[in-house]
Parts: sequence; structure tokens; C-alpha cells
Amino acid sequence: MQTMTPQSVCVLGSTGSIGVSTLDVLARHPESYSVYALTARDRIEELAQQCRRFAPRYAVVLEESKAVQLRATLADEKLSTEVLSGIDGLCQVASDPQVSIVMAAIVGAAGLRPTLAAVQAGKKVLLANKESLVMAGPVFMAALAESDASLLPIDSEHNAIFQCLPYPCDSLSEAGVERILLTGSGGPFRTADPESLHRVTPDEACNHPNWSMGRKISVDSATMMNKGLEFIEACYLFHAVPDDIQVVVHPQSIVHSMVQYRDGSLLAQMGNPDMRTPIAHALAFPQRVESGVNALDLISAGRLDFEAPDESRFPCLRLAREAMLAGGSAPTILNAANEVAVEAFLAGELPFTGIAQLIEKVMQTTGVVELKDLETVEQADREARAQAHQVLGELCGA
Ligand code: NAD
Ligand code: MG
Repeated sequence: MQTMTPQSVCVLGSTGSIGVSTLDVLARHPESYSVYALTARDRIEELAQQCRRFAPRYAVVLEESKAVQLRATLADEKLSTEVLSGIDGLCQVASDPQVSIVMAAIVGAAGLRPTLAAVQAGKKVLLANKESLVMAGPVFMAALAESDASLLPIDSEHNAIFQCLPYPCDSLSEAGVERILLTGSGGPFRTADPESLHRVTPDEACNHPNWSMGRKISVDSATMMNKGLEFIEACYLFHAVPDDIQVVVHPQSIVHSMVQYRDGSLLAQMGNPDMRTPIAHALAFPQRVESGVNALDLISAGRLDFEAPDESRFPCLRLAREAMLAGGSAPTILNAANEVAVEAFLAGELPFTGIAQLIEKVMQTTGVVELKDLETVEQADREARAQAHQVLGELCGA
């Protein structure tokens, strides 16, 4: 049998929920993949454990003080792991010539530069960090078109859509697609009394019925901004316009999304809600490898329900669609305002219902510009954050 050299993988955000699931899948296939770089912002002890287990060439942390801490932790061990720090360190490992595959699993806008560096360096990029695509859509997609990189969606819905489309698929209409059905569970407050939502605590919002995830995306799921960000993500990834995409609430999270074709066919991808399935799919594409996820048992699942989303309960969905229709930097503004609002909510400074109020106010009061390059994206992001802090002060009566 032919022996293959394992492909080197860089995991950006390795201590997060997606990062840990990625390492779980990689560890099942040591003959196919080797871990070349791990990165994290905090939870240094966990990162050190990952270094002991996977012996990467590099470990990168955001702040130099944390790098000092990690170097000290690993000092007595016979590891050849070099510890780097800062955004430059992140971009360096994401674009390292030795690396074939980059898992982009940093949360939020902080993931943009390293993810873009991986795209520009022509890597196979597994995209979990939806915020980077939402905030920089046209710039991100132009960089992809100009490079040899391939972009594989990790978000379970987009991975499902990808699996239900022909490959490659440059045009939905040429592929006979009538529309994309983007499913979402509706989060923990799908049936809650709207009057009770302003009292929701961060722990309640993070208690998702089907998925175990990082806190930021958990809050996004509770407001359904996650579905809004995914709506924008799908427009960019699949060359779709807003009218091509319908959001469908599916509380069981078993159908991960669907594609409806001209001939009346509706293709769905199904599975247990476990991110290791889309991770394994994207890692091995076009092959299929074992992920550690149990086969779906439809008999015990019993039923699949679908309903229309309630936009009066979940205004974030409407705001995201409006941002995509407005174009330019409107999605950048939406994303930045959402990040500030979610952080304030998690810190106990803003009520749950204030998240959508803050975003809407920031969208109304921040000018939309054309996104020409990374600088215009970062400028728009900074401006929207400043405006969001201003609005936060007003809403909290500061
Ligand atoms: P998480 O909070 O669990 O992990 C985030 C990771 O990024 C951690 O390793 C953290 O140390 C690192 N990080 C955070 N801020 C950073 C910064 N400023 N600079 C560098 N590194 C930083 O998040 P998660 O749930 O794993 O989500 C990661 C991304 O994947 C998000 O964009 C999320 O929307 C997306 N995603 C997650 C899931 C899921 O099931 N968790 C599903 C689909 C998409
Ligand atoms: Mg998703």
C-alpha cells in the first residue's frame, strides 16, 4: 500500500468549541493529518495540554504575556513547539508554506486577518469563523477568487447546503437551484413569552437546546442573529441573493439545511447535531472519513417539525436581511454592533432585548461605504464599534 505523508493542519482557535472538536477528529486520523500549529487567546493551561498531546511545531497566543506563561509551562518538557504571539504570529502560522489545511475557528472579527492570510496563501480553508466573511464579504471573496485557496464551510447549515449542491457550483440558477432553505433551531427562546425576554440572563441565553457552543455564538443563537449572520454568509458562499434564501425554523436540528431544485426535488443533509460531522466532511472532502459521531436514528428522533421564523420576536433576522440588501459596509456595521452588544449583554450591562435595539440604532446612524479592501473593512468595523459604544452608553443611561 502507498504510504501518504500526513497533511499539516493549523487550527486557529484550538481551545474553543470548534477547535476542540477539530482536534478530536484529527486525532482519529493520525496517518492522514498532523497538527502543525495551535492558537488561542486564553485558557493557556488547556493550550499547553493540547501541545503535550499533539506536539505542534508552533503554538500562538494573542498577548506576549500569555506567550511567556506558555513558554514557562512547557519549559521542562521535551517539546520542539515554538511559542509565538500577536496577530502577526497568527497570520504567520495560517500562511506557513508547510501548512495545507487551516481551520479558521477564532470567534468574531479577530479572525479576519489570519483567515484572510490563509486564503491569500492558497490554503484549504475550513471556515467556522462566519464573522470574518460577514464583515468583509466582497473583499474576502475577491481574495479567494485571486488565490488557489479552497473554502469549505464548517457552519453546519452551510456545510449541509454545500453537500446538497453540485461541486463546483458557481451559479445557483445554472445548477437548477430554485432556493436554499436555511434551517435554524430557533434557540432557547423560540416559544418563550416575548414579555419575559428582557429578563433573560447570560446563562439562560447560553443554554442552547441542541448544540454545545462558545458563549458568543450561543447568544447569537438565542437572538437568532446567528441565523442572520448565516443568511449573509450563505449569500457570499453560494453566490446567492437574499431572495434565494428562506429561513426555516426546525427545532430538532436534525435537518441541517436544504436545497430545492427546479424539478421539485428537495435535498436535505441530516445528522445528529455534532460539529464533528461537518468538520470531518470538510477535512476529507471529497472523501468521507469517520468523525466519531453516531449514526442518526430516525426512529428514535421520531419527528421533524418545520415552521416560519417569528421576526417580531427575533428582529435580528430582519436586521441581517436589511444589511445584506443595503450592501457595502452594512453587514460590517451589523456584525460590529452585534459583537459589542453581545459582549455588553454577557457582562451584564445590556438586557437581552437591548441587543437588537443597539444594533438597529447603530445601523440607522452609521454611514454605509463601499468595501474596497481590508483597510476599508477595518475602518468601517472601527467606526461601527465606536458608534455602538456610544449607543450602549445612551441605552444604559450612562
Ligand atoms: P469559542 O469561544 O468556544 O472559541 C473561540 C476560540 O478563538 C478560542 O480558542 C479563543 O481562545 C480564540 N479567540 C477568541 N478571541 C480571540 C482573539 N481576539 N484573537 C485570537 N484568538 C481568539 O467559539 P466557538 O464556539 O468555537 O466558535 C468559533 C467560531 O466558529 C465562531 O465564529 C462561531 O460563530 C463559529 N461556529 C461555531 C459553532 C459551534 O458549534 N461552536 C458552529 C458553527 C460556527
Ligand atoms: Mg450554524
